[in-house]
This record gives sequence, C-alpha cells and structure tokens, in this order.
Amino acid sequence: MSGKITFTMIKPDAVADGHIGAILGKISEAGFKIKALKLTQLTVADAKKFYEVHSERPFYGELVDFMSSGPIVAAVLEKDNAVEDFRTTIGATNPAEAAEGTIRKLFARSIGENAVHGSDSDENALIEAQFHFSGREIF
Ligand code: ATP
Ligand code: MG
Repeated sequence: MSGKITFTMIKPDAVADGHIGAILGKISEAGFKIKALKLTQLTVADAKKFYEVHSERPFYGELVDFMSSGPIVAAVLEKDNAVEDFRTTIGATNPAEAAEGTIRKLFARSIGENAVHGSDSDENALIEAQFHFSGREIF
C-alpha cells in the first residue's frame, strides 16, 4: 500500500516570484495536510546531496546553483497515496507539458526553474523529510 507522506519544496523561482501563498493554497485545496513547514535556504552542499541522483546529468551544475540561489519553502505533506497524488497536483517536470491547473503549469518559469519539488517514492519522501526536519518539527 502507498504511504501517506510526501515531501515538497517551493523552489527559489516561485519564492522570488511571490507565489508561496498561492502554492500553499493549491496544496491545501488538493487535500494535503501540512505536517511540517519552513522557509530556509539550501547550501551548495545541501543541493548537491539532495539531487545527487542527477549528478551525471548535464543540467546538474545548473540545478545545484539554482536550488541554492535563494530561499525555499520546505514542507512535509500528508494524504492517502501522497507521493503519486502530489506529483499529479504539481504536473510534469516541464511546465510546457504540465496539465492545466497544475502548480507547475500555473507558476513555473521553465523546465529548470519549475516552482516545486515532489518526492518520487515513499522511501525518498521519508529520506527527504528527515533531511530538512528534525522529529520535533514534524507534527
Ligand atoms: P523534482 O525532483 O524537482 O520534483 P522531477 O521529479 O519532476 O522534479 P527530475 O527528473 O527529478 O524531475 O529532475 C529534477 C529537477 O532537475 C527538475 O525538477 C528540474 O528542476 C531539473 N531538470 C530536470 N530536467 C532538466 C533539464 N532537461 N534541463 C534543466 N533542468 C532540468
Ligand atoms: Mg525528481
């Protein structure tokens, strides 16, 4: 059975563009409960580690620079089937291909600066939540 938890970041583009409130509203409207939430900034080392799985991809350097370029909002979200349902809520990686009404379609700038992150598995959701939050910050 799929888990109830996913992890998200509102990325530096969407924070800089003033979309924190609108994106949290979309997340709430889609039925997710906020279990943890903070405004923070990734160091270059944090961003490298977080996206290590992409270290061989040509866009890795650009991705690390972008993700550490300004504040982000990190959050742990709860809902039945959280990982899959949240990826539906955010839409395709490339906003040009994202479905109407999805967070990336509404708020992303480009395939690289695409407004939000969503975990891709239950296992990674837990790893990512623990990367950003201590036990006492998750409710
Ligand atoms: P995320 O992991 O951030 O939720 P995703 O799972 O939709 O996004 P991934 O394939 O995991 O997509 O890629 C991670 C991130 O790397 C993307 O969200 C995007 O910011 C960046 N990225 C992916 N493909 C490209 C590309 N072709 N050019 C530039 N950046 C890219
Ligand atoms: Mg991914």
